[in-house]
Amino acid sequence: MKIDIITVFPEYFTALGIGLFGKAQERGLLQVITHNLRDWTHDVHHSVDDTPVGGGAGMVMKPEVWAECLDELLGMKAETEETSGMTGNELGIARHPADAAPAPSPQETSTDARPILIFPNPSAPLFNQKAATELSHARHLVFGCGRYEGYDARIPCYYRDRGLDVREYSIGDYVLNGGEAAVSVMLEAITRLIPGFMGNPDSIVEESYTGSNALLEHLQYTRPTTWRGLTVPSILTSGDHGKVDRFRRDEALERTDRIRPDLIEALDCSALDKADRKT
Ligand code: SAM
Repeated sequence: MKIDIITVFPEYFTALGIGLFGKAQERGLLQVITHNLRDWTHDVHHSVDDTPVGGGAGMVMKPEVWAECLDELLGMKAETEETSGMTGNELGIARHPADAAPAPSPQETSTDARPILIFPNPSAPLFNQKAATELSHARHLVFGCGRYEGYDARIPCYYRDRGLDVREYSIGDYVLNGGEAAVSVMLEAITRLIPGFMGNPDSIVEESYTGSNALLEHLQYTRPTTWRGLTVPSILTSGDHGKVDRFRRDEALERTDRIRPDLIEALDCSALDKADRKT
């Protein structure tokens, strides 16, 4: 998978060289290129922002700089206002950035070599394991990290209207200073699902939020079985794999019901077994 990251703080991503992510790059599974957005500016101050149209606090990232950078990275021909011949509405200016066109199905994504452009945005739909799984099939992801009050809303609209798969995701209901941390979070979630990334592929099969009937995972323990007076559930040391599986499944259902009842609401009841229904 090729990953381009556009940011005004490229040094933020030096941490991508460590751990499994670093090893995946060494093995050629991932090719990560970080780009400094300021390299596409033309003024002496390398400005990437300007005051908000309509007034208000803070600064907004300018569309021209982003477009020069994205046109180059995406191999798209630059368009001026004259050559594009499109009106504001045709460019999607009136649309809210989060009102993205529906995402293509995983099948479409996996066979599609076109880049997927992703902008972190606190006012976009939430990024989740389903999105991570879908994006793990892509061949080329381009991430654009916002800063200040965010990026000009016309940027995602412009590339979406030119047929590109453009996504905007929030990583949670809070506001960060910039998109760099959000991109790091998304990258961790996406890349560990790429076949060959994890040392043991079974590690990602039974995890929280994973699979069609996603639950929170059961609790995990390691040795010693008794530690500071706390003993692991005896069934886990019984050697009876059937009973261990049932115990873990019940625990997963109970924890999910207690901590994330919304996930229980979303379960497909026909996929539950008889014992599950009693839980
Ligand atoms: N004015 C924006 C708002 O209130 O929605 C917040 C802008 S934030 C200070 C600057 C940038 O950080 C955003 O453009 C986005 O790229 C990133 N960001 C902040 N919080 C985020 C979140 N929860 N999820 C994803 N990206 C986030």
